[in-house]
Amino acid sequence: MPLSTLCLHCGMCCDGTLFTQVPLQPHESGALGQRGLPLTTREDGAVVLPQPCAALNGRCCTAYTDRPEACRRYRCQLLNALAEGEVSLDEAKGVVDAAHARVEAVARSLPPPEGGVAAAPASMMRRARAEAAALSPEAREALTQAEAFLDRHFRGRFRHSG
Ligand code: SF4
Ligand code: SF4
Repeated sequence: MPLSTLCLHCGMCCDGTLFTQVPLQPHESGALGQRGLPLTTREDGAVVLPQPCAALNGRCCTAYTDRPEACRRYRCQLLNALAEGEVSLDEAKGVVDAAHARVEAVARSLPPPEGGVAAAPASMMRRARAEAAALSPEAREALTQAEAFLDRHFRGRFRHSG
């Protein structure tokens, strides 16, 4: 089953499009810290790997052998559907393409970043969430459409906020 093929086409559970952080078990921070990955301590004391993940290079995990248990176990709804044979690889890649297009639509709907330096669509998506209250109607609609698509095809009941 070409599951990794789909993930290498996607990367959205690592680049900050779907989530803001990866929870770590206490023994996992050492190896990740030795790799130079920045870790964050939340207000509740939990150490997490913030997203976009610094281990992500393009759509590849460069910390694959040391990746946290949460990363090893995680499968989005679409990947589960592919694993169960409910969708073909081509169909699943089409869903990923449609998700990327919605995230890019959000990025296009925002004013350019200060300095005019282009930012990755996932980064613009996070900016849209952070500035949701001040978005133009067009940007708000694009964000609503993108979040609904991501919920429906990827996050499902595991929706994260913020
Ligand atoms: S969001 Fe799903 S398809 Fe995309 S990289 Fe993560 S597990 Fe793979
Ligand atoms: S450690 Fe690897 S699998 Fe986990 S979020 Fe980072 S890039 Fe993704």
